[in-house]
Amino acid sequence: MKDPLHANILIIVPRYGQYAETGYYEFPLGLAYVSAALKKDGYAVDVINLNHHGGPVSEVLTQSLKDRSHGYFLTGGLSAHYRSIKEIIDSVRDIDPAGKVIVGGGVVTASPHIMYDYLKPDYMVLGEGEITIVELIRTLDNGCYDCRGVNGVGYRINGGPLVLTEPRGPILDLEQCAWPDVEGFDIQTYLSRQGPNDSLYLYVNDEPRFYPIISSRGCPFSCTFCYHPLGQRYRSRPVDDFIAEVRYVVDKYDVHNLAIFDELLSLKRGRLFEICDRLKQLPRPVKWMCQLRVDTIDEELLARLKDAGCFLVSYGFESMNDEVLRSMNKHINAAQIERAMTLTRKAGIGIQGYFIFGDPAETLKSGLETLSFWRDHPDYHLTMGYVRPYPGSVLWEQQVAKGDPSPTRQLELLDACINRPPNISSMNHMDWFQLKKEVTRATILNDHFGRCLDSCRETDDTYRLSIECPHCGRVSPYRRFKQRILGIFKVSCRHCNQTMNISPMVFEHVKNDYDRNRKVFEHIKLGTCPVIVTPCMDDAEFQAMAEIFLAGVNIAGVMDIDESRIGLSYLDFRIRRRSKENVEAVPEACFLIPLTRYANKIYSHLQSLGVSGDRICRLDEIMPSEVSEVENTIRGARGKEILSELRRSEGLL
Ligand code: SF4
Repeated sequence: MKDPLHANILIIVPRYGQYAETGYYEFPLGLAYVSAALKKDGYAVDVINLNHHGGPVSEVLTQSLKDRSHGYFLTGGLSAHYRSIKEIIDSVRDIDPAGKVIVGGGVVTASPHIMYDYLKPDYMVLGEGEITIVELIRTLDNGCYDCRGVNGVGYRINGGPLVLTEPRGPILDLEQCAWPDVEGFDIQTYLSRQGPNDSLYLYVNDEPRFYPIISSRGCPFSCTFCYHPLGQRYRSRPVDDFIAEVRYVVDKYDVHNLAIFDELLSLKRGRLFEICDRLKQLPRPVKWMCQLRVDTIDEELLARLKDAGCFLVSYGFESMNDEVLRSMNKHINAAQIERAMTLTRKAGIGIQGYFIFGDPAETLKSGLETLSFWRDHPDYHLTMGYVRPYPGSVLWEQQVAKGDPSPTRQLELLDACINRPPNISSMNHMDWFQLKKEVTRATILNDHFGRCLDSCRETDDTYRLSIECPHCGRVSPYRRFKQRILGIFKVSCRHCNQTMNISPMVFEHVKNDYDRNRKVFEHIKLGTCPVIVTPCMDDAEFQAMAEIFLAGVNIAGVMDIDESRIGLSYLDFRIRRRSKENVEAVPEACFLIPLTRYANKIYSHLQSLGVSGDRICRLDEIMPSEVSEVENTIRGARGKEILSELRRSEGLL
């Protein structure tokens, strides 16, 4: 062990998503590999995994670090996490200004200049981290702060120009990398709290215990929207090494399932068959999911996968228009996508598929073509989203080259990618608006539901359910079903692995909330009470929601907490801050939360500002099928009112 005074290292894992501290998140394999490399070289490494801690990041870190001192603070992630990483660095600087902060991962590898100036670390590790981090800390430990001899790092000396050393080449022999330090990252907590409805692929067991693993790195393709922080060159682990890790974790951590996150597991067919054969020979069978390209599969391969325990394949379909697929440099076509869907379903394997709209070649016509395919196959429950030109991708370079390349604009572009993808397609504003509206509308109206035959509360927050699949008609029993967000959610059948919608009404304990919400909805649909929309959604998405849910509603204002939006115009209103003062200024108003995954947070915030539940309506708790019911009731009530008026005026009453 190295002298802990000099080499005491703390890795801080950013928090991913709003439910990370209690629910499922994608395990930070990159940081766990870095930790393993440091430990293999004899360094002492502590980890704070913020996904296992609630409360503000600064408080968690202050509390955790009060009795510990560290020479080095390591963190990192993808560009989409840059604000969480900044929050970590700022907190660490406040708590321990003397510690050296090192950031790695796609966030700095894709944009080293901008991110160095924004995040303000001491050093950046660019590209694959395992070798670089060890060499860097060894150099720093020797008292040398100018690290020109270490490939793949970025830093400044005394405020001088940014030094980027020679790029670090890819690690060719992956067997030399120690297995990820999952123990240090508290894998037991990660595994034990997974529930079958925490993520689309966890449905397969009541205790999913999914272990994240990779057997290869890199992908030789160059899809224009994609970025490979670990480099494009494909390298694979020896199958023996991969299987040895699987055997070890199944035994040590009672792993039930594997999520194989290779970018391209099927590049070498013979190797994949060998993996299948070896997985079948495990003392205890495990199920697994993986990511494949549609042009690498056929009936034989899918049958081998299924036979070896594969229950789900994730595909990036992207589009059903060949011109758009060509523009994306995807090297696949619509016929191959359709064939892959048919064959995968025929093999009894579930499909997790994605369409992304808005490539530069996308037109309204091509977008509607993809949407029409989606509508014709609602039973596949494919996910629809938008092209996001993240740093490092070809599309990012094109976007930056188009306008002002200043850091401020690049950060704005990155924020847009994270929050509201910019229109980089061939469409004008009207066509882009129309397409987004239609996509949202189709998603909301997908009524492919499973039928709940039995529902029974097991614990305070879990249920036991029996659900009949709308695809195969068979019934799957589920235990440990958690319900955190009201609203429709998705789960897959344990027999045919196909996905279905589930109504939140399967959970009896939400009934009171549901009834309360429905009453508020009925009230605002009368049109007599002013309604404040909060927060501002994408305008096209809001329009789709308004057309489905909000006929007759008297929208009287808009509130948000995003400072950059306050004062702007939205729905013909000036956006006001969602503050106590502004909320108190409209005591007669109801508040409408549109369909957003942040509905829980917004609901709690409104309550903390003094708004009672009987003035808040959440659209995620309203089923589209209920809208006409409510409208008919209102129409009926109005009809009676009008009839009474007439009779009164005619002297009949
Ligand atoms: S989208 Fe998939 S196939 Fe294309 S470059 Fe990225 S990982 Fe490779």
